[in-house]
Amino acid sequence: MDTRSTILIVEDETDLADLLRYHLEREGYVCRVAEDGERAVAEAYRQPPDLIILDRMLPKLSGDEVATRLKRDSRTTSVPILMLTAKAEDEDELVGFALGADDYVRKPFSVKLLLPRVAAILRRQQSGGSQDEIVTGGPITLDHARHEVSADGRRLDLTATEFRILAALMSARGRVLSREQLIDSAIGMDAAVTNRAMDVHIAALRKKLAKSATYIRTIRGVGYAFRGPEEES
Ligand code: CA
Repeated sequence: MDTRSTILIVEDETDLADLLRYHLEREGYVCRVAEDGERAVAEAYRQPPDLIILDRMLPKLSGDEVATRLKRDSRTTSVPILMLTAKAEDEDELVGFALGADDYVRKPFSVKLLLPRVAAILRRQQSGGSQDEIVTGGPITLDHARHEVSADGRRLDLTATEFRILAALMSARGRVLSREQLIDSAIGMDAAVTNRAMDVHIAALRKKLAKSATYIRTIRGVGYAFRGPEEES
């Protein structure tokens, strides 16, 4: 059996798609290429890859829309996405990326910089796959094996990164985790953008948790914690 990781490259610029494919295959990955958003979604549903490298500006469906559709479908909800974005879009960019991507790289980028990020995402994905327990805290239930989270009886649509952040916080059971610890277990980007990115992820996660959002506490100057059982009302 072929145990090499498969990567779906979604990029309409043929030169860039070829370049990515060349370097990723040289690293031992199996690559497929989709040139527009619709084909990307169809291809990912047909045969879910281990990672998707997704350009944000695409014909037919935008990268954001592709990410949203993949996260909504049980076949692809846990497939990590590395988004390729146009040059600096600041806040908007971070918010967009928090919607569906696990990491992002700004164009133009060097392949040398991209390869370790790809390896890091795949490593995190594999180490996360060995847990099978169900964790509960107040009205929130997190199922590692099924990659599902529910709060107040509602099933939540979390990105893979939001899922890992919540899993890390819940597993710590009230212990405070520093931003660095959370970044280490859930993200893994350039140090320069990680703190802001973590805030954006936490904000997105709280929004999805709705009235259970208070279970994620901000510990000023330190990091975040999941509300301990003694604090439940
Ligand atoms: Ca493009």
